[in-house]
Amino acid sequence: LLQLNHIYKWVNQGGRRVFLLNDISLSVEEGDFITIMGPSGSGKSTLLNVIGMLDGFQEGEYAFLDEPVHSLKEKHRSKLYKEYIGFVFQAYHLIEELTVYENIETPLLYKNVKSAERKALVADMLDRFNMVGKKDLFPSQLSGGQQQLVGVARALIAKPKLILADEPTGNLNSKQSEEIMQLFKELNEEGVTIIQATHSETNAAYGSRIVHLLDGRRDRK
Ligand code: ATP
Ligand code: MG
Repeated sequence: LLQLNHIYKWVNQGGRRVFLLNDISLSVEEGDFITIMGPSGSGKSTLLNVIGMLDGFQEGEYAFLDEPVHSLKEKHRSKLYKEYIGFVFQAYHLIEELTVYENIETPLLYKNVKSAERKALVADMLDRFNMVGKKDLFPSQLSGGQQQLVGVARALIAKPKLILADEPTGNLNSKQSEEIMQLFKELNEEGVTIIQATHSETNAAYGSRIVHLLDGRRDRK
């Protein structure tokens, strides 16, 4: 599905390079369920953002479905991620001006899904996440856990080929966490590729492979 080849990402601070990603190579096959683990600040979110095409990098190559992401024009790149990738953000990144319903619906608008089908899909998500009664609320009117569920629903609604989940259960209670992880597991069994970043061993156990990061490098322990 995707290959990262010797990716380097850095920022310049006080005249020197601070590496956020340092020689990262990673090959992901369709149907993989990969967990990225590592201490806070080790680069997990940075790596997911690069894979999700939200962030660039200075050196290396990135191929997604055989397309060279590093040399694509922004328009082509955004078409790729809108079509194939669902992202659950660590800090939710819901659109504050939109209701729960509208937030969940956005990926379907990007994909030009017809109105009647959009309605049915959003209704199904609201039902699945027990948010029917909250559909007209704005993100600021929800708890952290509820916002996280909306973020997960939004990432899944357009049936992405690849789900990138950054601490997807960080604000959920253990029952909700288990439900989300169980849902990821089912989707993975249906062929969806998943890459999650987490500190949780319980969540990691749902995946089939662990990638360890330390200071932006792969830690092959
Ligand atoms: P956590 O477990 O806390 O979520 P993480 O593994 O996701 O941590 P990242 O958010 O990827 O870590 O950050 C990796 C490092 O890169 C951190 O030291 C962070 O301060 C730094 N960093 C990230 N983005 C930038 C930026 N735009 N400019 C400077 N430093 C940055
Ligand atoms: Mg992070």
